[in-house]
Amino acid sequence: MASERQIMVGSVPIGGGAPVAVQTMTKTETANLAATMDQIRTVAEAGADIVRVAVPREQDAAALEQIVAQSPIPVIADIHFNYTLALKAIDAGAHCVRLNPGNIGGAEKAGIVIEHAKRVGTPLRVGVNSGSLPAHLRDLEYDNPVEALVSAAVETVELMERLDFTNFKVSMKSTSVPNTIASNRLLAERIPYPLHLGVTEAGTKWSGSLKSAVGLGTLLADGIGDTIRISLSTFHAEEEVKVAWEILKALKLRERGPVLIACPTCGRLQFDMDTVVAEVERRLEAYDDPIEVSILGCAVNGIGEARHADFGITGAKDMGMIYSKGEPLKKVPTERLVDELFAEIDRYYAAGRKVLLDERSAAEARAWLAENEDDTALTPERIAMLEAAAAREETTEAVAPALEASESPVAGRRFSRA
Ligand code: SF4
Repeated sequence: MASERQIMVGSVPIGGGAPVAVQTMTKTETANLAATMDQIRTVAEAGADIVRVAVPREQDAAALEQIVAQSPIPVIADIHFNYTLALKAIDAGAHCVRLNPGNIGGAEKAGIVIEHAKRVGTPLRVGVNSGSLPAHLRDLEYDNPVEALVSAAVETVELMERLDFTNFKVSMKSTSVPNTIASNRLLAERIPYPLHLGVTEAGTKWSGSLKSAVGLGTLLADGIGDTIRISLSTFHAEEEVKVAWEILKALKLRERGPVLIACPTCGRLQFDMDTVVAEVERRLEAYDDPIEVSILGCAVNGIGEARHADFGITGAKDMGMIYSKGEPLKKVPTERLVDELFAEIDRYYAAGRKVLLDERSAAEARAWLAENEDDTALTPERIAMLEAAAAREETTEAVAPALEASESPVAGRRFSRA
């Protein structure tokens, strides 16, 4: 369930059923216009819908006007502690200002910023951080950190409403994945405003991506969250954008560019698949269309679970095969697999999204596949298929008369927010 309310950050709708927006934050000194604009263009190309820039100093606020004018995507000014910088960011034309009313110098100063934002029509992102909750919630934070975080966020929302300001989205940041999930679930039930999701200080590209995928993925799968940012310890902000897109693509919430599928490999692998996967992934970045490309480490399963892929390759020691939608297209030497795969993809687009089949090459490929396929081998894929079939059979055998809802052992428990 998306938030009820919608706001506009520049041209990007947030909430109210709009597609989940991808955000990131520049890592440059904002006042360094050339470096900041370089990074903004890079993240926009990687798929960022919105970019946030830190504004800790007067010179950063002074650079904002140029940044807003040159940026291909809406710009959010990120302000802490200094309410006059927030006023300057609004005057510079920032498409949104992020501030935590709790650290901007008291309700009065927060009120001045909110009144100015209202006058100019600038939306705000208001939020709370687990590390800086108001003093009166400290005891609650000790006993129940989730409730403390949600209470702080609700108090912030009430402050906005008292000032008759509704042009905002809310974020609650915590380094704890379970607390991020629990607090956003609770807050989504209590307020109608759009939610920005993130796991703060998530970590390196590896651990941070996983934490974010678990935390944000769980919430997004519940329908909670209108905009996301993946926080990674890297200077390359575009990496955050790529991870965000992978999460949205995995949940089928948005489409962008090709989807790469690759088997996990096992002892049957006979070629350097790591290198092939990396090369295919790199070359696919040049395509915008959401085609599905699959890489199988061997042909013992036939085309198996990659049958639906638009294009795919499977290799053996010296030879491999290119296929499309389950149909063998051609057999090629392993070292030419990647080049030939992309030649086929390019031919497909040149022909107006039509797979061009050469009957002789296809017959050779089918013969190669028949030689290499072994439908008795217990591969990981076949074991999974057998297990799934056995589970289906068990379920069918065990089908009991439907229980009355009230008699169900899980009565009253809620598994989703549908
Ligand atoms: S059996 Fe499956 S996992 Fe192993 S290499 Fe072949 S396709 Fe990959």
